[in-house]
Amino acid sequence: MKNQNELTKTIQELREIAKDFADRAYSPYSQVKVGAAILSSKGKTYGGCNIENSSYGGTVCAEQVAILKAISEGEKKINLVYIYTREGWPPCGICRQMMSEFASSGLKIIIGDITGKESLLDFKKEILPLAFTPKHLK
Ligand code: ZN
Repeated sequence: MKNQNELTKTIQELREIAKDFADRAYSPYSQVKVGAAILSSKGKTYGGCNIENSSYGGTVCAEQVAILKAISEGEKKINLVYIYTREGWPPCGICRQMMSEFASSGLKIIIGDITGKESLLDFKKEILPLAFTPKHLK
């Protein structure tokens, strides 16, 4: 990220992607719509929505869908994640762990809600400090 204007523009773009994907949520059981948008270290964006399953354990979070799409397209690291819900929910523990696996050193998380309120958070300091990472397995 070069400067504040560039970051603001990128966040705006990710917000639109995340909102669009929230509309695609398949959530007949919870009725909760979550949208996620990722900016990869290569500069590409990926979106995801939550996809529930009647066998609840088969449910996948929006953040996971976006990460799986990015990694399966050849991405290695993620720089920004925007998470959009009506209420501005933070990512769950499994998503935090999954983000940790592919986090660039400066990964930032943006949490947005329906009122337009947004929080820009540092992944390592505020979302998952003391993470269990691939380094622990070496
Ligand atoms: Zn999750």
